[in-house]
Amino acid sequence: MQIEKLNIKYTPLSPEDRIKELYKDFNTILFTSSFGTTSAFLLHLFNKINPNQTIYFLDTTYHFNETLDYKKTVTDLLKLNVLDLKPESWKNNFTTQDKTWNSDPDLCCSINKVEPLDKIKNNFQVWVSGLMSSQNKHRGTLKIFEKKDGILKFYPLVDLKEQEAFDYIKKNNLPEHPLLKAGFHSVGCFHCTVAGKGRAGRWVNKSKTECGLHL
Ligand code: SF4
Repeated sequence: MQIEKLNIKYTPLSPEDRIKELYKDFNTILFTSSFGTTSAFLLHLFNKINPNQTIYFLDTTYHFNETLDYKKTVTDLLKLNVLDLKPESWKNNFTTQDKTWNSDPDLCCSINKVEPLDKIKNNFQVWVSGLMSSQNKHRGTLKIFEKKDGILKFYPLVDLKEQEAFDYIKKNNLPEHPLLKAGFHSVGCFHCTVAGKGRAGRWVNKSKTECGLHL
């Protein structure tokens, strides 16, 4: 089905119905989660519809312990099937010694996030992500479906506000990311994240706003 037709079909639907339709229209679905502050929303929605869905986590080796604890809590609670994708160790060691997140964060993200995902991406028809258009300027241009780097991407939450995710998490008694209370509205690697509203705490004082996975 053409992307335009997919967007026309899926736009009027709720996020839950969009996910139900996705399983009718596609067979091989790649779902990545950062186990960030809003992640439990999409994880819970998918889990209700397909509890067998594999969730991929990009383990850059630079995650906050709070994120790793949160990942375990949510995984155990929802009985998720989570697989970690790791960077090549010699390259990861290089970025650690070189502190590449300071000198060339795009290269650091490429080694620790983009490359591990690229190795499996072609096995899937569609890649699901919880991006919301309200999160930054680039995301403001997204539609439910778009084609990027040879794979179709699916953003079932694109027209929602982050507050709706937080409300859903509360309403469904899902755990809150432990760093949220400390003022971290968006959580990535500890080298590149400080407390801040929205995505203001990510790559502070750098022009970078996305890790490269979604550009
Ligand atoms: S977010 Fe920062 S530390 Fe993590 S992979 Fe990207 S540049 Fe490296």
